This record gives sequence, C-alpha cells and structure tokens, in this order.
Amino acid sequence: MKPAPFAYAKARSLDDAIARLGGDGDARILAGGQSLIATLNMRLSRPTLLVDINGIAGLDRIERKEGMIEIGALVRHAQAERSEIIAKFVPLIAKAMPHIGHPAIRNRGTIGGSIAFADPAAELPACLLALGGEMVIASAKGERTVKADDFFQGLYETALGTGEILKAIRIPAATEATRTGFAELTRRHGDYAIVGLAATARADTSALADVRLVYFGVGATPVRARKAEAALTRNALDEAVAALAHDLDPEDDVQATAAVKRHLAGVLLRRVASQLAEASA
Ligand code: FAD
Repeated sequence: MKPAPFAYAKARSLDDAIARLGGDGDARILAGGQSLIATLNMRLSRPTLLVDINGIAGLDRIERKEGMIEIGALVRHAQAERSEIIAKFVPLIAKAMPHIGHPAIRNRGTIGGSIAFADPAAELPACLLALGGEMVIASAKGERTVKADDFFQGLYETALGTGEILKAIRIPAATEATRTGFAELTRRHGDYAIVGLAATARADTSALADVRLVYFGVGATPVRARKAEAALTRNALDEAVAALAHDLDPEDDVQATAAVKRHLAGVLLRRVASQLAEASA
C-alpha cells in the first residue's frame, strides 16, 4: 500500500523542528523511518506533515559528561554498536544492539526513534529502564528531563507530548562494580523478541545489590520483575524464577501463548543471572 498524502519539511535546527511541529495539522517527526514509514504505508497513521530531523547538527553525538553518558537522539543503532564509549560505559546497550533487527535497519534506525516509538518488544526501552536512564525532551517551552521509570506509559505511549522532541538520553556511566546481563528469545535472529530480559546490578561485595530485571515482550511496556529482583539480591535463583509468576502477567500474542512466555522468562532469568555473576560484565 502507499501512504496517504503528506507534506515534508527538512528541519534546519532543533528550534526549526519544534516550530514546524507546533504548526497546524498532525505533524510527525521522521528520524530513521524504520518504523514510521511502515506505519504510513499500512495507513496505520496519517500525519499531514513529516518533519525530518536527520539534518540537525549535534544530535548524533555520544559523549561522557559528569558521570553520565549522553547519547543524542539521532545516533544510529550501528553507530552505538561500534562506539568505544558505549562498550566501556554502557555495556548493556552494547550487548543489546546486535539483537535489533538486521544491519540494514541498524544503519538507519536511531536510538531516539526506538525510545520514542516504544514498541513493547523492543530492546532499548527495557535497557533504559534497567539502566535507570533519563530522557532529555525539548519543546517550545524549553527542556525537561523524564526518568525512564516514568517515560514508558502504555502500548506505544510515552511521556512525550505534542510538540516535543526527544533530544537525547542520559545513562549513569558503568563503574568497576557494575554488572549487566542481556538475553532474548526470537524465532529468527533479528526478529522482535518473543520474550527478552535486560538486567543490571552492583557487585560491591560478593553479593549483588540494586538488581534491576526488566522484561520486554510480556506487556504493553517494559516490565520490572520486582519480586524476582529481591530474591536475586539474596542469591536465591530458584526463588527468583518462581517469583516471576507474581511479577509477570503476559498475554497470548501472535508469537507465543502466555504460558510459553512465562516459561521462557524463567529460562532467560537463569541465563542472565549467570551473566550478572561474571566480574567482566
Ligand atoms: P522512525 O521510524 O523515524 O520514527 C518512529 C516513531 O518515533 C515515529 O512516531 C516518530 O515520529 C517518532 N520519533 C522518532 N524520533 C523521534 C525523536 N527524536 N523525538 C520524538 N519522536 C521521535 N526495533 C527493535 O527495537 N528491535 C527489533 O528487533 C527490530 N526489528 C526490526 C525489524 C524490521 C524489519 C524493521 C523494519 C524494524 C525493526 N525495528 C526493531 C525497528 C527499528 O529499531 C527502528 O529503528 C526504531 O523502531 C525506530 O527508529 P527510527 O529512527 O527508524 O524512527
């Protein structure tokens, strides 16, 4: 199918993009186009204007600033995959990247687009929640920051309001004590996950602290498994797996039944727990 007619504008700057978004009609931001163009072609959305942000200078940087790593919204998945800063200071994202689609998609798709689109089976929203990241959002009113815990609000719904642009994400830089784990199950490599798990923890002593287990593909948003987190902090892996029955409430979907998803969630927890235990993580 072809998309419904729309106007196109290439923004010259962030302010220009914000001004164009604030005009009449239903304007939508175009980043990598890897999700948006498909929804237009299927006529699942019919914006009257696409505001192309690809030419805006400065949104494609990965920088280390005061203990945080700031990743610009226009950083492509492939750029993040190759980044030494991300490999060293955000190893969870480095682990997740190869699972996002295929190289052609990672060459165009952006970090900002993935986070703003908020697909419930996507890797990056879950990583951001596990990492305790935050989103920097720009609009005509200035800038505001929203924590990942408050950003993902429902199925494809985020804290982004009309006229707002996701400018960057910020993540606390990993230290020697940081542990991360990532695993997902798909029918074919590169597919969206049937179930996935992104995890972080701190290992100041031999025990794990601040464990965050975030599942994706099991609900409308990424889901924290809080009872399992508490059990894993006590090094009680079997108890943590059993606790998933309370933490997760998946529904049947085209990929798997809820019962299969529950079972796979336990399998992933055992895999990720062994990654968290490794000192090199
Ligand atoms: P676009 O498609 O340009 O935009 C997506 C949405 O976000 C639009 O509504 C747009 O208006 C909005 N948006 C974009 N940027 C901003 C911004 N800075 N501020 C506010 N709103 C913004 N993704 C996965 O996570 N895992 C996968 O396994 C996966 N597999 C895929 C397989 C295929 C075959 C395809 C085509 C895509 C797949 N994707 C997958 C999606 C891919 O990761 C996209 O890159 C991502 O979902 C959207 O990023 P984008 O830059 O292409 O955004």
